[in-house]
Amino acid sequence: MAGNQTRIDAISQITNRAPRVVDQPKSLKAIWASDVFNLTSMEEALSKNAFKAIKKTVQSGAPLDNATADIVASAMKDWAMAKGAKFFSHIFYPMTNATAEKHDGFIVTSPDGHAINEFTGSLLIKGEPDGSSFPNGSLRMTNAARGYTAWDPTSPAYIMNTDNGSTLMIPSVFMSWTGEALDKKIPLLRSNAAMNTAAQRVLALMGEQEIAPLNSSCGAEQEYFLIDANFANSRPDILLAGRTLFGAPPAKGQQFDDHYFGAIPARVQVFMQDFENKLYKLGIPAKTHHNEVAPGQFEIAPYYEAANVAADHQQLLMTVMKQTAKEHGFLCLLHEKPFAGLNGSGKHVNWSVGNATQGNLLDPGSTPHQNLNFLLFCGAVIRGVHKYGPLLRAVIATASNDHRLGANEAPPAILSIYLGDQLEQVFSDIKDGKLDAVFDGGLMDAGLSQILKFKRDPGDRNRTSPFAFTGNRFEFRAVGSSQSVSGPLVAMNTMLADSLDWIAAALETELKAGVEQTAAVINVLKALLSEHGNVIFGGDGYSADWHKMAVEERGLKNIPTTPDALQAFRDPEVIELFDRTGVLTPVELASRYEVYAEQYVLSVEVEAKLVAEIASTSIYPAAISFLATISSTAAGLTAMGVELDNTIAKTVAAETNAMMAAVAQLQAALEQDDFSDEQAHMTFLCRTVLVLMDTVRSHADALEMVVSDELWPLAKYREMLFIK
Ligand code: ADP
Ligand code: MG
Repeated sequence: MAGNQTRIDAISQITNRAPRVVDQPKSLKAIWASDVFNLTSMEEALSKNAFKAIKKTVQSGAPLDNATADIVASAMKDWAMAKGAKFFSHIFYPMTNATAEKHDGFIVTSPDGHAINEFTGSLLIKGEPDGSSFPNGSLRMTNAARGYTAWDPTSPAYIMNTDNGSTLMIPSVFMSWTGEALDKKIPLLRSNAAMNTAAQRVLALMGEQEIAPLNSSCGAEQEYFLIDANFANSRPDILLAGRTLFGAPPAKGQQFDDHYFGAIPARVQVFMQDFENKLYKLGIPAKTHHNEVAPGQFEIAPYYEAANVAADHQQLLMTVMKQTAKEHGFLCLLHEKPFAGLNGSGKHVNWSVGNATQGNLLDPGSTPHQNLNFLLFCGAVIRGVHKYGPLLRAVIATASNDHRLGANEAPPAILSIYLGDQLEQVFSDIKDGKLDAVFDGGLMDAGLSQILKFKRDPGDRNRTSPFAFTGNRFEFRAVGSSQSVSGPLVAMNTMLADSLDWIAAALETELKAGVEQTAAVINVLKALLSEHGNVIFGGDGYSADWHKMAVEERGLKNIPTTPDALQAFRDPEVIELFDRTGVLTPVELASRYEVYAEQYVLSVEVEAKLVAEIASTSIYPAAISFLATISSTAAGLTAMGVELDNTIAKTVAAETNAMMAAVAQLQAALEQDDFSDEQAHMTFLCRTVLVLMDTVRSHADALEMVVSDELWPLAKYREMLFIK
């Protein structure tokens, strides 16, 4: 096959693409959570007593006895088998951003050779996958590699339907034989518990009589790209690295801003409907979808849920999205920066904390200055973002997210907090020792009688802030699109736990000294703001002025790359934070640093090898063929007495030589392996290898602009980005 055959085929096939026909359910009610073994299905399937026991476990974490576990397991099996499942799997969330599952059949054979189906409480509660194949950051040697999965009853089991059949999936934690967390779920559950303990303390001091358990909530907005699957096949970089390592900018990109919120292309619309119906069956409340800024870029946002369930659902959403995209002839790209020069993709993590008795503690209500609980919780977040900014940066640090952060399209790599005009005013008043009423925004009036007036939000939006207050929650906007939301949620819950503890202690001192409640709150917040208030920033986070001011005047850290960001996991203050709150032991935290560092190294190395390979085996031959054509044509023309201008040939030769020289340097750099430690290795890849990759790319992209279109092997940006 000619070097450019796949690309040519893709171009010719694209015209035949049409929206896939999909079945439409009669109603949302007909499909909602139909594949989920949730409390409703349990109530139907279980005896009253068994249901009461499991409900208590699900809702308040009460321990489950073995007899009830057996009953639940048996009912779960019957329910799943009625839906066609023959296998079950504990699904767990290792320290990568992917999920893992090991499938087992319900089948057991009896001594007389009959096959029967069995699923006991102990099988439901515990699984034992071979742990050694998952990244564990030296927590286990391969000879001591037992890993256990254990059912998390707070996240409902469900049926996963694929072409290979249906499987009962049981959300689980994953730990080592010695009980260390090897996954993303255990720390999330622990961080929620730590936050609850600290929040209870503060609320009790505030005189609340009845305080239900507090839970964190998460609503994640997922951005992604779709490209036609045929094009992906001509791009080994997209297939293996999830992003384009080459590609000249198209004449038309996103400069017209005509894609954002634009009409959704028909093929994509059908994909979205199909995908969302699948989410509904799985009990995932898909709520919003729209086009994003870059051509070919979209967003889906489910309604928010308890953080633990939202995190599991987010992983499932990514899996279902990729699978459904395939069925519609697309490749779904979750990489943070698939295309240079176009906006990348993030995952905005909307986060709040609350309970059944006090409600959402990050909801200011219409008179925030009178809402002391809110002020304390919001103050706690301010302190957390200031004190643990580098940690928040570390939990979103990946090789892929580095391409996005700080690139003036995504939140900067400096962690600051945006509150909006109204709250900024309230907190600035508190700094001056007072609590005054503030403007409530008034009414929005378009000056047209037929347009009804409505209340103005008390604060505008700020797209340039990495951590923004948005009315009744915080939105952590710097999270990467391919990431699990667990790491960010763990960091947020834990920093909140720490701050609430600090607040409780300070408040206790004030109240003991006989200070009246409101004055005590003002005193505590005043002290908090004088130390941490400079993390509040309402201006343009993209501007050069801010980058300078943040670092030089406010002492905030600008941490643009992962090797630097991951250092936060080794900061004694952070180690102490996780240890004290019981979220991660020092050993567990150290293992995370190792795993994330290793992943950085592996992903940059894969990309670097691909760059060298594609440049040598696809782009170089295309350039040479083009030169061959030019030179034989020129020779022929010379024989006819006609001279062809040689500028193009010279450019192609010069760019080709420069590209191959850079490839040689890159290959030599990849040979290096004498690094003192993982940190040194990461730094070398970041400062040397990524730079060489960019050099190779710049010459290759220059070639793309001159080499004959007919010969070019890789699908071009203009072909991939505009969906037909
Ligand atoms: P945006 O205007 O930021 O693009 P979207 O509607 O796309 O907003 O997404 C907002 C997300 O925030 C949704 O997932 C929504 O359910 C979630 N959300 C709303 N209120 C809360 C809350 N109190 N806590 C957590 N998430 C919330
Ligand atoms: Mg949105």
